[in-house]
Amino acid sequence: MKILVINCGSSSLKYQLRDMNNETVMATGLVERIGGEIGRIAHTSRPDGDSPAKRVDELPIADHTEALKLMTDRLLDGVIDSLGEIDAIGHRVVQGGESFSHPVLVDDAVVETIRANIPLAPLHESNTIGIEQARKLFGDVPNVTVFDTEFHLTMPPHAYMYPLPMELYDDLKIRKYGFHGTSHKFVSRAAAEHLGKKPEEVNLITLHLGNGCSMDAVEKGKCVDTTMGLTPLAGLMMGSRCGDIDPAIVPFLAKNKSLSLDEIDALMNHQSGLLGICGMNDMRDVHQAREQGDENAQLAFEMFAYRAKKTVGSFLAVLGTVDALVFTAGVGENDDHLRAKVCEGLAPLGIHIDTEKNAVREPGIREIHAAGSPVKILIVPTNEELEIARSTMAVVNEAAA
Ligand code: ADP
Repeated sequence: MKILVINCGSSSLKYQLRDMNNETVMATGLVERIGGEIGRIAHTSRPDGDSPAKRVDELPIADHTEALKLMTDRLLDGVIDSLGEIDAIGHRVVQGGESFSHPVLVDDAVVETIRANIPLAPLHESNTIGIEQARKLFGDVPNVTVFDTEFHLTMPPHAYMYPLPMELYDDLKIRKYGFHGTSHKFVSRAAAEHLGKKPEEVNLITLHLGNGCSMDAVEKGKCVDTTMGLTPLAGLMMGSRCGDIDPAIVPFLAKNKSLSLDEIDALMNHQSGLLGICGMNDMRDVHQAREQGDENAQLAFEMFAYRAKKTVGSFLAVLGTVDALVFTAGVGENDDHLRAKVCEGLAPLGIHIDTEKNAVREPGIREIHAAGSPVKILIVPTNEELEIARSTMAVVNEAAA
């Protein structure tokens, strides 16, 4: 079975075609600057094979419809002979609201419900455009939606409700939804398997630390709390997002800096986090600057780690017993300094990192805790596209059964 995974951002489109008979990637691509003066499409055939073929083109790409057409042109150029070879399409959808607790086969009603959730994630309207265009372009090929929020719908009300007037939840569905759910689900399942247990037999704290960062408390395979909220701005400090701050800073800025709400929103999303503190949002640059004595880079690193560590502490309290901490995503998988800093001083809470194991760089799942550590510490590379492809295949097979 060949599954195409599509992830439409506001001005980008990521795609991956996978042969699910052996889960190999047949082709992958990224279309960027859609709607800009000059767009870009980078396409790679057989990225994991012996001779990957990469092709990059720069050209105006007016909208997502054109982007999808470019994608199909590239796929038909040596990857597949006809679009009919594609058995199903899996779409990443950021916001499923309270409507979707698992992946679903797309029909008109599903598209309508996703549309109704757009006010909760206005920046991700492109998700629906991707689905609608794919339905047109691929005819009868089944489309499946996989939601970033679905893994978090198991949170109990005392975790997902905000202490705001109840009518805001009743009228506008203001509550914590959480994001990166596909990643947290994938790594929590992989970690359980690595530990030789079923997902429902383990309690985990999963740390997705990339440009965007979030952490989940996973109890017996189900998410019971997460750091992101109504939007992906909440929680941990991130590359350019502030994470949790005193909410009164928003009206304070409006009054004292005469900023509009849109300007404050942009400031918190795009000019804060690591970038706001030291002018760099890539942790590799932050380390380089720290090593050269840049005090703000040092402060940014310490703040990032401190905020993650405090959340580990609070999730330990939420879960009581924890089998493993699971580090994933760009920073979580690659940055031994950061992992060491997050775990520093946590031995009394049962978290003992092994400095040497932590420093080794190897692909795949790795254990980096000291022998006898009551809480294990794992690095589990995330793979959201594979998770979406697996979920898509499961939905399509179930529908056909
Ligand atoms: P996204 O959230 O955009 O999916 P990723 O999970 O790919 O991001 O993470 C990207 C980030 O990972 C980079 O911005 C960088 O900060 C960090 N990163 C990648 N490699 C390393 C490394 N070797 N050491 C430290 N940080 C790294």
